[in-house]
Amino acid sequence: MNDTDMDPFACFDDSDDDDDDDDDDENDQQHEQQHQYGSSPPQNITKPSSITSSRQFTYSTENGNSTASYSLQQDEQSQGRRLVDEANARLDAATAVKDGLLPVTSSSFEVFDTLTGAGKGLRALKVFEYGDEILREYAAMRVPNHQAAESLEEAEQLHERAVQSTFNNLHHSTQNAIIQLHSCDQWMNHDDSPGRHASGVVTPLGAYQSNSYTLGDQKCGGLFLTTARMNHSCRPSATHIWRPDLQKTVVFATRRIEIGEEIFTTYGPPECLDTEGRRDYLREKFSFECGCEMCEEGNRFGGDDRMIEINSLQEDISMLAQTGDPKIAIDAVERCLSLLKEQSISIGAYRQPLLHYGYQIAMDGLKDIDLAKSYLSKELAVTQQCEGPTSPKALQIQAMLDDLF
Ligand SMILES: [Zn+2]
Repeated sequence: MNDTDMDPFACFDDSDDDDDDDDDDENDQQHEQQHQYGSSPPQNITKPSSITSSRQFTYSTENGNSTASYSLQQDEQSQGRRLVDEANARLDAATAVKDGLLPVTSSSFEVFDTLTGAGKGLRALKVFEYGDEILREYAAMRVPNHQAAESLEEAEQLHERAVQSTFNNLHHSTQNAIIQLHSCDQWMNHDDSPGRHASGVVTPLGAYQSNSYTLGDQKCGGLFLTTARMNHSCRPSATHIWRPDLQKTVVFATRRIEIGEEIFTTYGPPECLDTEGRRDYLREKFSFECGCEMCEEGNRFGGDDRMIEINSLQEDISMLAQTGDPKIAIDAVERCLSLLKEQSISIGAYRQPLLHYGYQIAMDGLKDIDLAKSYLSKELAVTQQCEGPTSPKALQIQAMLDDLF
């Protein structure tokens, strides 16, 4: 395989993967279909789906990490129903436990009260090294992102109904765990809209909108009871990724985490922004003021300047890789990688696409096989650390690397 034309910023295509619900051992996973290779921006970020129908209405309700788009495409509607049927028709307690619809428990981490405005969080009960798997879990709820609608109002009603009926089909212990989750302010303290409640009670819709995120191919969103407990940091110590081959979300450490330390993931934004930009995004989407270490630091050590430069380099690199001078392009890749390191946000979601661009530029522009191998080897290592050694993407990069030797 020598597929240097793949778009490193493209998302995973896992559209055929929703039929494998009960196999826990990733070594046994043998999937026929080829995943479209690609590294998405931080995985909890949603992007509106591309809709191809010429006669369509598309509505997007963006709340929390979940984007629900509605269109008139019949095939997506039936696909949505299938997901609901397969993922959520589980009514008895034994099934709820067996299928892992309850919060994951482990001696390696615990849910604790942060005693800050952030509410509950997840903290380590053992040392995790970079790349260690922290947890993996099934979605307690999966709700399709696409249904037919003729108005925004109807779209919102359909979405609310889909969330509620999914919730109704769950065992009461799973339901209880869901409504104990945090709900963003915009889903509380209003009694005149669906999912909102004057007394501050968390409703299924509020919990879903505040805690779910889009899975892989954008067709549905999922809510994960333990992963949802992780608070946000713009400089996260963990990353969570939806693994279509396992039908689970898996959380990996992105640096060493000490015993007792809170485990943070990132809720976005997908781009590298300065402190003000990140805080605006998080305030608007999740109704909180980010007080993470990086936001508190601001530009004191040049962090904002670095983030702005990284953002501009990321935009340049995709263009330079196609048409620019390959030497300038590779310099931009190296500069960007080094800025990420200086800023201590060398997480896989940022590094993977850059390393893949490095590989493409070395192969196509510089015709330097050794350099291409070096970029691809680094990309493989990063992918294994943030997705697991047997992730479909890691296996695909391994195969590409084998072809180069
Ligand atoms: Zn922050």
